[in-house]
Amino acid sequence: MALMTGDQYVESMRKLNLQVYMFGKKVENVVDDPILRPSLNSVKATYDLAQQPEYEDLMTATSSLTGEKINRFAHIHQNTQDLIKKVKMQRLCGQKTAACFQRCVGMDAFNAVYSTTYEIDEKYGTCYHDNFKKFLQYVQEKDLTVDGAMTDPKGDRSLAPHAQADPDLYLRVVEKREDGIVVRGAKAHQTGFINSHEVIVMPTIAMGEDDKDYAVSFAVPTDAKGILLIVGRQSCDTRKLEGSEIDVGNSEFGGMEALVIFDDVFVPNDRIFMNGEYEYAGVLVERFAGYHRQSYGGCKVGVGDVLIGAAAVAADYNGVQRASHVKDKLIEMTHLNETLYCCGIACSAEGTPTKSGNYLIDLLLANVCKQNVTRFPYEIARLAEDIAGGLMVTAPSEKDLKDPFLGKYVDKYFKGVNGVSTENRLRIMRLIENLTLGTAAVGYRTESMHGAGSPQAQRIMIARQGNLAMKKKLAKAIAKIED
Ligand code: SF4
Ligand code: FE
Repeated sequence: MALMTGDQYVESMRKLNLQVYMFGKKVENVVDDPILRPSLNSVKATYDLAQQPEYEDLMTATSSLTGEKINRFAHIHQNTQDLIKKVKMQRLCGQKTAACFQRCVGMDAFNAVYSTTYEIDEKYGTCYHDNFKKFLQYVQEKDLTVDGAMTDPKGDRSLAPHAQADPDLYLRVVEKREDGIVVRGAKAHQTGFINSHEVIVMPTIAMGEDDKDYAVSFAVPTDAKGILLIVGRQSCDTRKLEGSEIDVGNSEFGGMEALVIFDDVFVPNDRIFMNGEYEYAGVLVERFAGYHRQSYGGCKVGVGDVLIGAAAVAADYNGVQRASHVKDKLIEMTHLNETLYCCGIACSAEGTPTKSGNYLIDLLLANVCKQNVTRFPYEIARLAEDIAGGLMVTAPSEKDLKDPFLGKYVDKYFKGVNGVSTENRLRIMRLIENLTLGTAAVGYRTESMHGAGSPQAQRIMIARQGNLAMKKKLAKAIAKIED
């Protein structure tokens, strides 16, 4: 099978035996759970869009392994055009879902692991790159969704993995067997694990020799024995249990994070991509983070497009669309959003080939991209709230609007301009609420801050990549200073 349809994807997820817990209980039907389903729908969109001829160029690619047509989310970037198309695809998916569509973490893991395993093998004569290519071909042929799991719980941040009071606070190898390894630990804040068929696990920081057991990368099915998930809460999540379409703001799509526990999970030899080569842990982290920082120059921009559109609709419905300050705020939001896009495109256009042949983004520009993402969505959200007005957080419920007695009051007193129904005005307010304060705020706000690494992580990379020595030389040359 080459490309799965969205419906086939949903059916394929039904066959998994995921161990998911939420509100202290095991979720028996993960696919149809009302809290979880919107996040599945976002991943489904990556399949549905790939079926549409108008998006074929962005959503699909030709496999470098088999020459077959594949979903771009499973592609190894062959040139800078591929890197650019990746960002454009993510903007499109953000526009269509107004949520985190989750499938990018796997794509970013594929590309980081691809080049890193090549370099480990070159040095040590291991066979990780072949292991990985075999796994990737399986993923491409089945059109699977794969999670990329990097973030360990990390315990005391001042201590290395091996020095933690509890050795499991970073995921590690606890047993080496003839046929594979056994791993224990956890990965926190896992976006999309719940909607993935497989997971690629990677280390989360650069490591030293004492951390050898922690320098491990591999792939396993998400329902492998010993894996269990505890779903993270989102602001306003239980509104999805009320059966109200308006009050949830975005009734179809969403994102989802979970704590994923690896309780002595067996990994067969041919699924191992790193096992003890600690000096490559940092390389893998840097590349994965770089790709995911590029990603935010696409996905957050697409969601930003929806938020800007929602603010403009709110202005129309409030009757303030001609006010010059409102027009200017929409310009500012657009300027900020397109600046993020510029960064995503720029780090892609400046990409270069790795030793393995796939393309890596310009790491300095990708880190600048993500650093801007830690700020601009907040300002875009602030301006959207400014334009929307207080109603986005004080509006009565859909039940009140539809109540035979109360409805006429809600309808009368929350009406905006003539010709627009109160219901539509409330719908757009709830969408803005969802994106800035509700379930989608995980993806648009706090994930903009901490996803793909917190702001300080980018500043360290910017310091490393900024080449200050070269800039000092330039200044001295112009000032005619000779040392
Ligand atoms: Fe993709 Fe963005 Fe979600 Fe990361 S945050 S998985 S880049 S949509
Ligand atoms: Fe993310």
